[in-house]
Amino acid sequence: MGIVVKKKSAFKGLLLPENKITAKKPIEILPVPEKVTIPLQQSIGAPCEFIVNRGDTVKAGQKIADSTSYVSAPIHASISGKVSKTIKVVNPIISTIMDAVIIESDGEDQWVELKKLFDIKKSDDFSGLKKIVDSTDKKKILKKIREAGVVGLGGATFPTHVKLNPPPDKKIDTLILNGCECEPFITSDHRIMLEYGRQVLAGLYIIARTITPENIYIAIEDNKEDAIRCLEELIIKMGFEDIFKLVSLKSRYPMGAEKTLIKTITGRSVPVGGLPMDVGVIVNNVATSKSVYESVIEDRPLVDKVVTVTGAIENPKNLLARLGTTIDYLTGECGEVGSGINYIIIGGPMMGISIVGTDFPVTKGTNCILVKEGRVQVEQNCINCGRCVDICPMKLMPLVYARNVKRGNFEVCREYYIENCIECGSCAYVCPANIPIVGYIKTCKSTIAKNNG
Ligand code: SF4
Ligand code: SF4
Repeated sequence: MGIVVKKKSAFKGLLLPENKITAKKPIEILPVPEKVTIPLQQSIGAPCEFIVNRGDTVKAGQKIADSTSYVSAPIHASISGKVSKTIKVVNPIISTIMDAVIIESDGEDQWVELKKLFDIKKSDDFSGLKKIVDSTDKKKILKKIREAGVVGLGGATFPTHVKLNPPPDKKIDTLILNGCECEPFITSDHRIMLEYGRQVLAGLYIIARTITPENIYIAIEDNKEDAIRCLEELIIKMGFEDIFKLVSLKSRYPMGAEKTLIKTITGRSVPVGGLPMDVGVIVNNVATSKSVYESVIEDRPLVDKVVTVTGAIENPKNLLARLGTTIDYLTGECGEVGSGINYIIIGGPMMGISIVGTDFPVTKGTNCILVKEGRVQVEQNCINCGRCVDICPMKLMPLVYARNVKRGNFEVCREYYIENCIECGSCAYVCPANIPIVGYIKTCKSTIAKNNG
């Protein structure tokens, strides 16, 4: 008997052209680059400070930057070599100038010593793994996750050790593993579920040990039938069938957004300005779960990331790239770009950010590099058609935001609950006037945050 349950979506959503042209392309390991550029802020929270100096030699996996702030995650060298210089880089995703360190490779790829506790690739008996997890206390698990620099890899980059340690007054009864990957083009999570399913499930078991929820769901959209079958088999093989529930969801955008996913799975609505923990839920992405496994069981810090390189490029791929590898190095591995006028988006077509240069590196939040043909479309006047309101999964008024941000009326947007926007991009997608509504929303949110100190 199968263990998969189906659930209907709790919102209307968009049925988008999937364009997941790399879905059947196995993850390729990208050769170690000659140098990496590692920004010192790669998560939500405080930036890190250098703990190495110019001229120092470092090994892959060595911690090179850290912070005393609780909401932060340390950063590690992703290659071995020499710290050649420190520079300023503009992070196009959050429009901020930040410090970065450049490491020049010694060509050796030497690693710090890693104390592996279990070999999940070779073993078919997982009782030893469970014993290790069950006998490790929550504090130690959270410390290992923090020291490895694990953050939410679905794009949010919230430090995982903070997320898995909610305040005592927040009782968490539900844990959701998010394998939806609802944005068109992106297939990195899909391939992780197919190729690292054991690590993903073991990571979920470790996460569950820290928050002891009553219900544990693994949510996957039904356009990834192979991943559903793969994890179903592994759940049984690894002996998790009594604790994990595998949920197949209709492929609808933005199913993978935390708030819409929670509503669909549990029927609970996260309050305006609130967090999933306010309704007793914690959501983690499948790539984060893999990383939790690697940090706790393999002693391995977060130094690489699976990135889908796709769109108008000769040979689209899923690449496992060291953090700090520049975007042009990844696109160079995938052949020529299309002959039309091209621009590059970091992320997917709905929530991604267009960038100008290609020398920005892969960071912990990068999951896709999308080469788009054509020009960025010209914005026209709003025609009050109401399509953006109709499609918004959070039942918001996107046209009000665009109009008022242009006039500098940020407080009006607040009165219309702009904090509840999940920046899914559905409104901009349906807008016939090509209004970059999400850009206005981001501007408004960051202005409000700055004004509030
Ligand atoms: S207003 Fe926000 S939540 Fe609503 S459709 Fe637009 S981006 Fe998505
Ligand atoms: S979809 Fe675009 S044009 Fe239509 S009401 Fe919304 S902002 Fe205006």
